[in-house]
Amino acid sequence: MKYMGVNEVREAFLKFFEGKDHLRLPSASLIPHNDNSLLLINSGMAPLKPFFTGQETPPRKRVTTCQKCIRTGDIENVGKTARHGTFFEMLGDFSFGDYFKNEIIPWSWEFVTKVMELPEDKLYVTVYQDDDEAAKIWHEKVGVPKDRIFYMGKEDNFWEHGTGPCGPCSEIYYDRGEEYGCGKPDCTVGCDCDRYMEFWNLVFTQFNAEPDGTYTELEQKNIDTGMGLERMATILQGVDSIFDVDTIKAIRDAVCGIAGVKYGEDHKTDVSIRVITDHIRSVTFMTSDGILPSNEGRGYVLRRLLRRAARHGKLLGIKDLFLAKLSEVVIENSKDAYPQLEEKKDYIFKLLTVEETGFYKTIDKGMEILKADIEEMKAKGEKVMSGEKSFRLYDTYGFPTDLTLEILEEEGLSLDEDAFHAEMQLQKERARNARGTSTYMGADETIYHRLPVDMETAFAGYDVYENDSEIIAIIANDEVSDIAFEGNDVSVFLKETPFYAESGGQIGDNGIISTDKGKIEITDCIKVVGGKIAHIGKVIEGVVEVGDKAHAAIDVPRRMSISRNHSATHLLQKALRTVLGTHVEQAGSYVSADRLRFDFTHFAAMTPEEIEQVENMVNEKILEGLDVNISQCSMDEARQKGAMALFGEKYGDVVRVVDMGGYSIELCGGAHLKNTAQAGSFKIISENGVAAGVRRIEALTGVGALEFYKKEEDEIKEICKILKAKPDQLLTRLENLVKEEKSAKKELEAYKAKAAAGAVDALCENALDVNGVKIVASNAGDVDGDSLKTMGDKIKDKLGCGVVILASAGNGKVSFVVMATDDAVKKGANAGKIVKVAAECAGGGGGGKPNMARAGGKDASKIDEALKAAEAEAKAQLG
Ligand SMILES: [Zn+2]
Ligand SMILES: [Zn+2]
Repeated sequence: MKYMGVNEVREAFLKFFEGKDHLRLPSASLIPHNDNSLLLINSGMAPLKPFFTGQETPPRKRVTTCQKCIRTGDIENVGKTARHGTFFEMLGDFSFGDYFKNEIIPWSWEFVTKVMELPEDKLYVTVYQDDDEAAKIWHEKVGVPKDRIFYMGKEDNFWEHGTGPCGPCSEIYYDRGEEYGCGKPDCTVGCDCDRYMEFWNLVFTQFNAEPDGTYTELEQKNIDTGMGLERMATILQGVDSIFDVDTIKAIRDAVCGIAGVKYGEDHKTDVSIRVITDHIRSVTFMTSDGILPSNEGRGYVLRRLLRRAARHGKLLGIKDLFLAKLSEVVIENSKDAYPQLEEKKDYIFKLLTVEETGFYKTIDKGMEILKADIEEMKAKGEKVMSGEKSFRLYDTYGFPTDLTLEILEEEGLSLDEDAFHAEMQLQKERARNARGTSTYMGADETIYHRLPVDMETAFAGYDVYENDSEIIAIIANDEVSDIAFEGNDVSVFLKETPFYAESGGQIGDNGIISTDKGKIEITDCIKVVGGKIAHIGKVIEGVVEVGDKAHAAIDVPRRMSISRNHSATHLLQKALRTVLGTHVEQAGSYVSADRLRFDFTHFAAMTPEEIEQVENMVNEKILEGLDVNISQCSMDEARQKGAMALFGEKYGDVVRVVDMGGYSIELCGGAHLKNTAQAGSFKIISENGVAAGVRRIEALTGVGALEFYKKEEDEIKEICKILKAKPDQLLTRLENLVKEEKSAKKELEAYKAKAAAGAVDALCENALDVNGVKIVASNAGDVDGDSLKTMGDKIKDKLGCGVVILASAGNGKVSFVVMATDDAVKKGANAGKIVKVAAECAGGGGGGKPNMARAGGKDASKIDEALKAAEAEAKAQLG
């Protein structure tokens, strides 16, 4: 046995199977493609499912991959032991109806003993109890002694997932030695302890599980194997756990370096180190695949892992932001096998930093709420926090439950954990329901699955807008049919088509398909299972039949508008990266005939200057008239040209490169202009945020932009009409108007003040005199309470010794203010009593002090009556 690094083991495996005529495919994105049953890719075979079921044709019948995987089922245990992790790489070789047990069993032995050089006396194998065929191959063909072959039950050695393809497995075990054992006399392969370690699972998919519980033999038998890369490395490196293998240890050491702690000295510290080491791998890879933190789905998984890592950083005493720094170590160690990590580096660092910063703010906010909750519990004498409260902290504020628990304990309180888990369960069910039902394929069973698997449509629409073709399948009113009649809603399939099917953000073409006997209006075009192109529309004339010669023609002006918007989207992306930075990545796009929408990662709103800069840059490139060159080449060649790779791209052998004069080079399958000048012009109409760290730009080109400017022009004309000015006089005219309005307002205010003062004078002159105390009672009209009081003060000052009774009515509400000067109070006046009389009269109530009182009423029609009653009360008080 020789020492091998993780990167060397990966390469050795892939090379070995390339030597057995396998096609090496790069790891697929962690985001499942067309598969709703999975949140994240969790095994080597998961992205290859369509090849196994025959829904899609594999590029070769033998394939080998190293697949990045994430499993978060036992996330709570990650860290607590050295066995669990969320991120791992799975090595696998796959046969789609090609070789079977006779080949894979000897090959796997050859790889393990000759390439990995594992000693044979340390190896054991298991087979399914009824699989004598496999046992025979192991013994007779490979030479494994019978006492080293273990028969296992269905639970351990049979792979099954509901109905559908399934079959027995065979596993290879490595004996790590007695020191890892439990010491029990019956300790052997299959024991729960760490001595016998399973590292390679060979699945022989040979049956189909029927709904009635029986198994039928599959016509096309498949092989699907999975070897944990990190697990293999622990064996070769003679170390205890995955946290000790070279590439992962490098991360672990970095964690220790940043935190200033040592691994292996204290259990609690080790837990935190392992959590961070594992989670930063998941987080880095997820981010590189374009997953954004959010509160649901895989975005939630990402956020949770990231926050858990940050939280354990705090537990280790790390003061500064550290996740981006650590992510750099992950990238350094894995970039050769995953070049995307290096390409998206700036973006990954920026995103981690923003999210980590946000988390610490969350912690502060959560602490505040938790403290308030604790105060409330103490005040009520409660000892146990409710599940609802703790779950709200966790779910709404992202506050870690272990932290809640810790703080509660410090305060001598506890948590109703059962209730908390019940809430959690509810949440999980909600999430599951939102994800939809799971079938073997994951994808929804639609009518399109009933079409022949090998049926294909050639797309000719990059260069031609109409062609002669043939109808090869029809779905009419949701049934596969040979014929469709006028009025039928149909999906039609052609041998060859100029119609672009919606993909890559570009909407499908519209147009007409006509035959000798009928005509179909196509209003949408989409790709369905197996990449078939469905022309969706309605038969508007006659009859159409499978086998008919057909003429297919797209709506060309519409396509031109779409192409303008699509080509402009590429220019826009490049301009954004130039102006804002290389952390800008496409997060989504939608290209239609009337506008384009582009979502991208950026962590602040764009300033008006930035928007203008980007818009100008795109327009410059349009005016330069750059040739749009489209070519096909390998992924590697495309990279060398500097092509921008998107997230979660399916790396096929050949990619399509769209090159706009060397300015923008992108991988893209969409429809484009021949020259950027055809876009005409480019106008951004909005920029706003759509999610944390994601901005959206909407923009127009060509006809759309012209219409936009025309509309603006029309509005200006309208304004000119209203202002009776010519366009070039508009600004001066407006400025003058604003000035005029200002001075008019000022004048009006002055008049109002004068009028109010005059009214005060008049009231005072006509005041009633009762034993030397002057009484004023007046309705001030529609003014608010504060103005009423100001007016009262003015009258009071003028009166000398007196009582002021004022009323107002606005919005159906009546207000009263009564004031009495100090000498009037001495003579018997009581504002509180007077206001009470007035308010009661108007259906309200209130009161106050002898010198100042306010009250409200409901009935405005009683104001005069109320004032009279109040005046009478004042007279009586002073009489
Ligand atoms: Zn044991
Ligand atoms: Zn594109």
